[in-house]
Amino acid sequence: MAFPVVLLASPRSFCAGVERAVEIVERLLDQRGGPVHVRKQIVHNVHVVADLEARGAVFVDELDAVPDGATVVFSAHGVSPAVRAEARRRDLEVVDATCPLVTKVHAEARRFAARGDTVVLIGHADHEEVEGTFGEAPESTVVVATPEEVAALEVPDPDRVSYLTQTTLAVDEAAEVVAALRARFPRLKGPSSDDICYATTNRQEAVREVAGDADLVLVVGSANSSNSVRLVELARRQGVPAHLIDDASAIDPEWLRDVQVVGLSAGASAPPRLVDDVIAALGAWDVQVRETTRETIRFTLPGIVRRGDRG
Ligand code: SF4
Repeated sequence: MAFPVVLLASPRSFCAGVERAVEIVERLLDQRGGPVHVRKQIVHNVHVVADLEARGAVFVDELDAVPDGATVVFSAHGVSPAVRAEARRRDLEVVDATCPLVTKVHAEARRFAARGDTVVLIGHADHEEVEGTFGEAPESTVVVATPEEVAALEVPDPDRVSYLTQTTLAVDEAAEVVAALRARFPRLKGPSSDDICYATTNRQEAVREVAGDADLVLVVGSANSSNSVRLVELARRQGVPAHLIDDASAIDPEWLRDVQVVGLSAGASAPPRLVDDVIAALGAWDVQVRETTRETIRFTLPGIVRRGDRG
């Protein structure tokens, strides 16, 4: 391997919502001393999930795999009201690790649907976050991902249309979909502030900054991590070869042929230590941090976890 310069995008790696979700499971494991069930991957990262599994977390796809009366953690991506109702029916103790910024989008979905609007949810239909938000008002909600899908939309009343977005979309692509919606539905209403979260926006700006000066961009993250995939796509749209890697072992030495400058980032669900491993594996002699903004946001933990009580 050569000894490239690394341009380290900042901010990168864990966001406040992921830190909170992981800490919730870690604290429960410490406090309960037994298996802790988690519905779906707590965050979309194979290393985070494997580490927590090794400490006693049990990840399940659906609640029917959780014993009656047991504790279950809902992942950072949120759940639909139907899942909450099922947990109540099964007498499960719920510890909710839904990111507060996802919860905000759920509240908007309920509000928009309650005033009689068709809610156009911009996002990827098969993503857990979108499934959860959709579930707030399934009769009133349609999911679209592209301007072409906007063109094919049929709604009961074109004057009563609102939009929401998944929190981890590409900012520029989402703007195109919103523009297409506004062109079709001039009275379109939206959220008071952008649903694409601060962490997604900041990581995209930081990758744009390093990609401009890099021969290659590497993004640490898992394939099912929406915000990580968007970072790779963004770099490629700037004409720079880019790869998503779960860890340093995924680096193909061929990628580094004739590469002098590597732009490096990590999605919001990727642990910082994986980035350190990549820097070590690259053998970089010069690591330059490109900071586009500084993040100070922290979310408080649920009371049940802070106190260490059984609910
Ligand atoms: S990426 Fe954004 S919405 Fe998702 S957990 Fe992090 S802060 Fe919350």
